[in-house]
Amino acid sequence: MTEHVMKILIIGDGKVGKSSFVQRYVNGKFNSTYKTTVGADFSVKVLQWSDKEKVRLHLWDIAGQERFISMTRAYYKGALGCVVMFDVTSSSSFLRCLHWKQDLDNKAMLPNGDSIPCILLANKCDLSQWVVSTDSINKFSQANGFIAWMVTSVKDNKNIEEAMRRLVEEILSV
Ligand code: GDP
Repeated sequence: MTEHVMKILIIGDGKVGKSSFVQRYVNGKFNSTYKTTVGADFSVKVLQWSDKEKVRLHLWDIAGQERFISMTRAYYKGALGCVVMFDVTSSSSFLRCLHWKQDLDNKAMLPNGDSIPCILLANKCDLSQWVVSTDSINKFSQANGFIAWMVTSVKDNKNIEEAMRRLVEEILSV
């Protein structure tokens, strides 16, 4: 049995749903009042990937540190994959994804010098007041080197497993 250990970062503005995403993915729950401890390090999820492979994910949520303009190198160190999340009802959270992606690319890279595989998630798709168009998400995702983008709803449990599976596939193929 091979076990792959992967540090995955979950970044994006405050309130877009990062902590809820991790909570849903790891514990299968959605709780609208749930809040992680500020400064918590990581949550673990183990996947039986194939007959001979396990994947142990260390999910690092920036949990309350979004107020800082950028994250420290220590936070990014050793990461093999990244989720950049925004809220489809907040245009500012979408615009800030550029900043988050650039901060990541400036401070972290894979051991071979490539940029870290990153998936863009358009969360809260269950809400009707979308203010970001799929066309602009598509363009932004392509222009900034994301492996893919997906709409998600942590609330309705839509595309959570799928998004993580897509990211892990990419990491294993690097
Ligand atoms: P964080 O600051 O990015 O970690 O965001 P939280 O996980 O604390 O979520 C912020 C708020 O958005 C909470 O009230 C969540 O319940 C809510 N939320 C998270 N994901 C969704 C979603 O997919 N749909 C809806 N409607 N609300 C969500």
